[in-house]
Formats: sequence, C-alpha cells, structure tokens
Amino acid sequence: MNIVLLGPPGAGKGTQAKMLVEKYGIPQISTGDILRANLKAQTELGLQAKKFMDAGELVPDEVVIGIIDNRLKEDDCQKGYMLDGFPRTVAQAEALDKILSGRGSGIDDVISIEVPNEELLARLTGRRTCRECGQGYHVVFDPPQKEGVCDKCGGELYQRDDDNEATVTSRLEVYTKQTQPLIDYYKGKELLRPINGQGKIQEIFDRIVNVLG
Ligand code: AMP
Repeated sequence: MNIVLLGPPGAGKGTQAKMLVEKYGIPQISTGDILRANLKAQTELGLQAKKFMDAGELVPDEVVIGIIDNRLKEDDCQKGYMLDGFPRTVAQAEALDKILSGRGSGIDDVISIEVPNEELLARLTGRRTCRECGQGYHVVFDPPQKEGVCDKCGGELYQRDDDNEATVTSRLEVYTKQTQPLIDYYKGKELLRPINGQGKIQEIFDRIVNVLG
C-alpha cells in the first residue's frame, strides 16, 4: 500500500496520516517533519532549508527528492508507506515515479484532501502543536482545556514558525502555483481519489478508509 496524501497546507494531511498509520501499520513520511527535525538538530540540511521554510517557499526539488530516495530504502517502507507533503511539484512526482519504477514499484492511490481556501487560512493561523507528544490543537475549533497546555501529556503547545499570516498566505499561493498541477498529473494516471476535507476529523478519516478499502 503506497499512498500519496495530497492537499493544501491546513487540509489535515498530517492529522489523517497519523490515524492511517495506526489503522494500516505503514509509516507516515513527511518531508516537512524531516526538514523540521533537521532544523532542530541544526544539521547542514536544516540550515539550508530554513530560509525557504521561513518564507513559505518550497525547498529545492533535488534536496527533498534526495531525502525521499533515502527514506524509502529503509526497512519499515517495504510493506508500504504514506507520503505526506511530498511530492509538491510535477518534477518531484516524476522523480518519484522514476525512483519507484527502478525498484519495480509504484504509487497505488493519491488521496487528495479538498478544503476551500478561505477555511485554510483560519485553520493554519490557529493551529497549535504539543512540543512533547506532537498532538495537534486549534485555538478556536479544537482548544485544549487549559490554554497553552496539552490535554494528553501536559506538554507546552507552540505555534509553528511558518503558521503566521504572512507565511501562510505565501504557502497557499505556492500550493496553487506549484502543487495544484499534481492533481491533473495523477488524474491522468487514474490514481487520484478526491476526498471532501470539510467536517469532523473522524468523518474525513472514514471517507478515506472507504476509498482505500
Ligand atoms: P509542511 O510541514 O508539509 O507544511 O512543510 C513545511 C515546509 O517545508 C514547506 O512550506 C516547504 O518550505 C518545506 N517542504 C516540505 N515538503 C516539501 C517538498 N516536498 N518540497 C519542497 N519543500 C517542502
């Protein structure tokens, strides 16, 4: 089961990916998470990526393609995986196809989570994450019981550096220009599975599972 999760920033890809990991027992591979972990550890890769991430722009294709090429060779990917936030350009999708076909493999389904633009801005700027366990919240739609504190583990909640309004606006523009063309790319390959991304988290999850079987 090799899946791509496609959708604009704030569509809920990360949230759904975590639930799908539990159901199907395959790893979630998020290039954004890998880049943020590198940034935290101050690796050369992280420092190189920082200026693009802070501006809401895409990190160069060859950097993320290299990350994915290596990550997919690891043992836990042999039974399948869920790509979250990759590919984000047609060039990345083509590189992925080439890497996979060279290994006698390919993508099975592309889950495209659809949410109108006006809802995305509100979702992203109110988003908070637990520093300890990674649990997600929203200051209006899904607030913790105590402001700034995780209900699950008591950890501190933080706002991602790139979830401020200016960067979010630029990330949404980048999505429209550079990532939206992937919809047609995967439609042409008959892999696209559009999912309505509005409603309760569980409802959206059920829609995805229904499609994946
Ligand atoms: P995300 O957590 O998926 O929203 O990604 C956060 C940021 O990391 C993006 O705004 C980009 O700067 C960078 N990034 C993540 N994945 C990719 C990708 N596939 N291609 C280029 N840049 C990426």
